[in-house]
Amino acid sequence: MTAAEPVILVVEDEAPIRRFVVAGLRAHGFAAVEAATATAAMLAATSRRPDGILLDLGLPDRGGLELLRDLRGWYDRPIIILSALGHEDDKVAGLDAGADDYLAKPFGIPELLARLRAALRRITRDQQPEPVLACGDLVLDLVAHRCTCAGREVHLTPLEFQLLAELLRHAGRLVTHRQLIAAGWGAQASSESAGLRLVVHQLRRKIEDDPADPRRLHTEVGVGYRLTAPTPPASG
Ligand code: CA
Repeated sequence: MTAAEPVILVVEDEAPIRRFVVAGLRAHGFAAVEAATATAAMLAATSRRPDGILLDLGLPDRGGLELLRDLRGWYDRPIIILSALGHEDDKVAGLDAGADDYLAKPFGIPELLARLRAALRRITRDQQPEPVLACGDLVLDLVAHRCTCAGREVHLTPLEFQLLAELLRHAGRLVTHRQLIAAGWGAQASSESAGLRLVVHQLRRKIEDDPADPRRLHTEVGVGYRLTAPTPPASG
């Protein structure tokens, strides 16, 4: 392990999954520290100060959500939840408790690395506010109030502009319904789900080649949205 490698703490009680994740990380320039229990995770987090944490919520000795809240009390680097299939409520509760993102099991190493890199980039980007936000060929100039997509000018309403800016600030990462509603309607607004769906629909008509088959603005069912550089078409 060299000093330049980001250290990732992998908290997972199922040994095969933990080994799979650790091997994937080590093969791609990360150093990995392992923990199979919440107690070991807390110890490793305090002693090793990892650059990021991958956290399974179903741990044998303690509730993962409780551990997450404790970590968030002092740990300000990325935490990504490893969520078991069918535990939608846990996932949302985890994001509300301060997790940066989640990966639904089973997941592949490329997906894990993409999420992790996006989460780690946040640290440097959040420190220096950028007047121009970009994700692939989608560019939003916050000063000139202009948007271009694949080189062509896109006209946005003020609300569309606010929501797209929020998605671009978190490009590649999950943005929850709650975050988007706060960005568009203010932190006090709580029941703008219908309004949010409408604005997302309008945005897709402006930035997607086929709004019915989005390649940039992806729905994370029951949780929120994720903006990426255009993904290739689904096979078939
Ligand atoms: Ca587990």
